[in-house]
Amino acid sequence: MSQTFDDPTCLFCRIGRREIPAKIAFENEHVLAFHDVAPKAPTHVLVIPKVHVAALSGTTAADAEALGACLAAVAEIARTLGLSSYRVVANDGPDAGQSVFHLHFHLMGGRSFAWPPG
Ligand code: AMP
Repeated sequence: MSQTFDDPTCLFCRIGRREIPAKIAFENEHVLAFHDVAPKAPTHVLVIPKVHVAALSGTTAADAEALGACLAAVAEIARTLGLSSYRVVANDGPDAGQSVFHLHFHLMGGRSFAWPPG
């Protein structure tokens, strides 16, 4: 992974640099979280590492701290928002539905989810 929000053209780095507005849900040393602009559930928050990496497949064991911080943030945000049940998704690559190439975890709640996903 590289430095914090340092990709000049990445949409989520631009949100992190506050060049593009977003409804921030959570922030700490490693993580920023904001509400999805086109929510697919009543609650839909995106949790991203502050360091730019395109996808989960671009990480290694050296990124364990940032990755762990993302998942800890998911759980903390879910507790804060009062979600008793929720789904966490990381789309990796176009065939999986990834459209923004800065690693992010979707935290979705407030409705039932089908399994397996489409
Ligand atoms: P994915 O398709 O897994 O890459 O997810 C990207 C997500 O980013 C989608 O759910 C989009 O709705 C969301 N998104 C795109 N642009 C913005 C934005 N400016 N602010 C917040 N969420 C966004």
